[in-house]
Amino acid sequence: MHPISDQIFVDGALKTARSSARITVLNPAFGHPLGQIPDGAAGDIDDAVTAAARAAPHWAATPARERGAVLTRLAGMLRDNSESFAHLDSLDSGRTLAETRAQVARSAEQLEYCAGVADKLEGRVVPLGGGLFAATILEPYGVVAALTPWNAPLLQIAQKTAHALAAGNTVVVKPSPLACFSTLQYAVLAGEAGLPAGALNVVTGGAQPGGVLVADERVGKVTFTGSIATGRNIASVCGGRGAAVALELGGKCPLLIFADCDLRKAAQDAASAAFGTTGQSCVSAARILIEASCYDDFVALLVAASERFIGGDPLQPATIMGPMITRAAREHVKELVDDAVDTGAQVVGGHWPQTFEPDGGFFMNPVLLANVPDPARVNHEEIFGPVTCLEPFADEASAIVAANAGPYGLAAGAYTGGAARARRLQHELRAGSVWINCYKLLDPALPFGGDKASGIARECGIDGVLSFVKTKSLVEAFSLQN
Ligand code: NAD
Repeated sequence: MHPISDQIFVDGALKTARSSARITVLNPAFGHPLGQIPDGAAGDIDDAVTAAARAAPHWAATPARERGAVLTRLAGMLRDNSESFAHLDSLDSGRTLAETRAQVARSAEQLEYCAGVADKLEGRVVPLGGGLFAATILEPYGVVAALTPWNAPLLQIAQKTAHALAAGNTVVVKPSPLACFSTLQYAVLAGEAGLPAGALNVVTGGAQPGGVLVADERVGKVTFTGSIATGRNIASVCGGRGAAVALELGGKCPLLIFADCDLRKAAQDAASAAFGTTGQSCVSAARILIEASCYDDFVALLVAASERFIGGDPLQPATIMGPMITRAAREHVKELVDDAVDTGAQVVGGHWPQTFEPDGGFFMNPVLLANVPDPARVNHEEIFGPVTCLEPFADEASAIVAANAGPYGLAAGAYTGGAARARRLQHELRAGSVWINCYKLLDPALPFGGDKASGIARECGIDGVLSFVKTKSLVEAFSLQN
């Protein structure tokens, strides 16, 4: 499967874009070009929304079980092409083959889950009495705009389209220009699976076509996954024109280590939580809070567990950590570490300073920071790289206060041997997902999304599909006399 260069997918077919502007997509492991994508023009977005709006009534009227059958077929075709999709996403996003293979499998499961929900989206009869028949029905939004980030290209698009299409919407996708080749291939495959022309459209490009799409009055709902700054911008545009918006945004997730846990297992899991995907996951453990009585022992175990995270070619089976997505992303993370060290933080593990090749791949190896003074930027900004900050805590109450501090609330984790403490933490930690004695356990059946600044939406689970329908209330007066 080769990168699809120079084309967009509109109204059921790959097309030459109206825009003549092109973006060169780089392979982050080697720094060389993988291909070119159109930087979509307003006319490309207009074509895609027109196709989606035309297809919307037919797709909404298609029996839910038939919509589900198309998604189930698509899931099977993804599995049949698993290696090709995994290879393409690894080339494009720099994620290891183990990660991208798992994401293809998850994408198929997500489609199957939503396919199963499609014919269970039911309204209710509401017993108002008094000669009134009242009921609710669920209706799709019509055209949904999906804007996705680069860090899980296939899974992001499978997740958003599975929900939206199952619920009877049509979709225009504007994927990240940094990694979008699998999105185009997915759209081609969806057509082969029986999705009607216009039900799924993909326009590539950067912020400009994204902005045009979000502002299009024919788009009933915008579903966005990406950074907090972009999400807020999009929400204000949607708010201004009264469109529904769902935001899945950035995080700065705390992982709490209590002295009564299995420290060895916790250290292994914490290293993966912080450095898996080169720290470029919204739920990366950017802060590890450690009970003071086990601080030294745990840090020694964590430093040792982190040693195996060394950047390498994501297509080699032995590689467990790929590169960062761009040179600029790596520069940003380097600046955060430099700033922390300048303000007095100590590097207690990993590699610092690091030598960065001026040409070649955008690799960066793990850095473990301790005693980071509060003003340091790394304490406040999303890191999105292989850097974690270690902090001791005295007791459970202070750990909870520290974990809940700050504007983020995407996910939190804790390792503890205490069952009662586990229950308390589940209630007290302010985050959309709380993992106890495990981390980043995601499932198509389990709603996922952020609290506080990390988002206003849930994807996955029944809640995820329900977020792509509107409830309409119906009331009919009838005579009780005859
Ligand atoms: P980003 O915000 O830079 O871009 C996301 C998408 O929005 C891209 O398609 C981009 O082209 C588009 N875009 C940018 N500016 C726009 C504008 N003004 N109008 C319309 N569209 C615009 O994010 P990114 O760098 O691609 O992804 C990394 C971020 O995504 C991190 O903050 C990460 O935490 C977050 N993320 C969150 C989740 C989640 O589920 N909460 C999952 C993955 C990534």
